[in-house]
Amino acid sequence: MPMPNFAYIQPKSIQEAIKQLSFKGARVHAGGTDLLGCLRDEIFEAGKVVSLRQLKELRGVLPTREGGLRIGALTTITEVANSQVIKERYPALAQAASEVASPQLRNQGTLGGNLCQKPRCWYYRGEFHCLRKGGDQCFAYEGENAYHCIFGGNMCYIVHPSDTAPALLAYEASVRIAGPRGLRAVPLAMFYVLPKEAVKRETVLKPNEIVTEVLLPAAWKGAPATYRKVRARRSWDFAVAGVALALRFRGDKVEKARVVLSGAAPVPWRSKEVEEAITGRQLDAETVSLAAQAAVKKAEPLKQNAYKIPLFRAIVEEELLKIAKG
Ligand SMILES: Cc1cc2nc3c(=O)[nH]c(=O)nc-3n(C[C@H](O)[C@H](O)[C@H](O)COP(=O)(O)OP(=O)(O)OC[C@H]3O[C@@H](n4cnc5c(N)ncnc54)[C@H](O)[C@@H]3O)c2cc1C
Repeated sequence: MPMPNFAYIQPKSIQEAIKQLSFKGARVHAGGTDLLGCLRDEIFEAGKVVSLRQLKELRGVLPTREGGLRIGALTTITEVANSQVIKERYPALAQAASEVASPQLRNQGTLGGNLCQKPRCWYYRGEFHCLRKGGDQCFAYEGENAYHCIFGGNMCYIVHPSDTAPALLAYEASVRIAGPRGLRAVPLAMFYVLPKEAVKRETVLKPNEIVTEVLLPAAWKGAPATYRKVRARRSWDFAVAGVALALRFRGDKVEKARVVLSGAAPVPWRSKEVEEAITGRQLDAETVSLAAQAAVKKAEPLKQNAYKIPLFRAIVEEELLKIAKG
């Protein structure tokens, strides 16, 4: 399909970008690796495309006064994957970034774009007027649903496509958002919305708002953490199943845990069941096995995706044991 016509604006300030985004049908453009495909495939329209590329203040990784890290939304995924300070302090994020797509896409794609990308459901991306596009049904429910969700579906059964979001959620990161009324910080845990809350959007962002940066709290700096991703193919691909884990220990017992599943639900899915199963305990074989079972206890698979249940059970068990062994 040819690319439709649109006005292309490159604002020189965040304020100007927000003003331009206030025009109906305007869309944010960061690296364009997702946006341009959506426009070309007519998933949605944009009368105006507002590029963030000139906003240098949205790039880079800097320490915060509180001892955490601030990552600009325009920082590329390659920069996140290769950053020495991220690798040392928040290794699961660097690991997740290095698992995103292909080297070319990581060079062009940005962290902000990765968090705000549209779902990859083949009905949504295809010529189907599905619920998320304003239609009246989810075609995946009765259709081809091997790669769809096993948690939180309800009316639309997408999985959230980002690899970096689960890792950031495990670290209890927040995003800073700029809009016409100024700046606000939103914990990533409250950034994504389930289909039952709003089926046509994925986040709480308003059309004239921009994610400017991601904030990582000092409390998780250097904590044992990991991101594991399983793909259908060995080459670049989205997660069929994945898990981000960040744990803090007191002595040999888990004091605090954050466990977030990817490829599991329409949003990065926090598994409170696993967190509860390991908090206050040593990570011995029995605890880990019970935690892995807890991960899938509330799963509601569709016709073709029950295979994800043993997959999630196995990766949760393997990653917990990996952390237990140090
Ligand atoms: C072939 C292919 C394979 C891929 N595989 C993976 C994978 O394995 N794992 C994975 O995580 N991702 C994967 N992706 C997705 C890819 O990582 C995203 O396309 C990329 O991260 C988006 O970044 P971008 O800067 O190009 O965003 P853009 O394409 O510019 O924008 C994406 C969306 O986010 C919005 N947006 C962008 N930045 C902001 C901002 N700062 N504030 C508000 N809204 C914003 C845009 O309006 C748009 O809707 C894949 C993509 C492709 C094409």
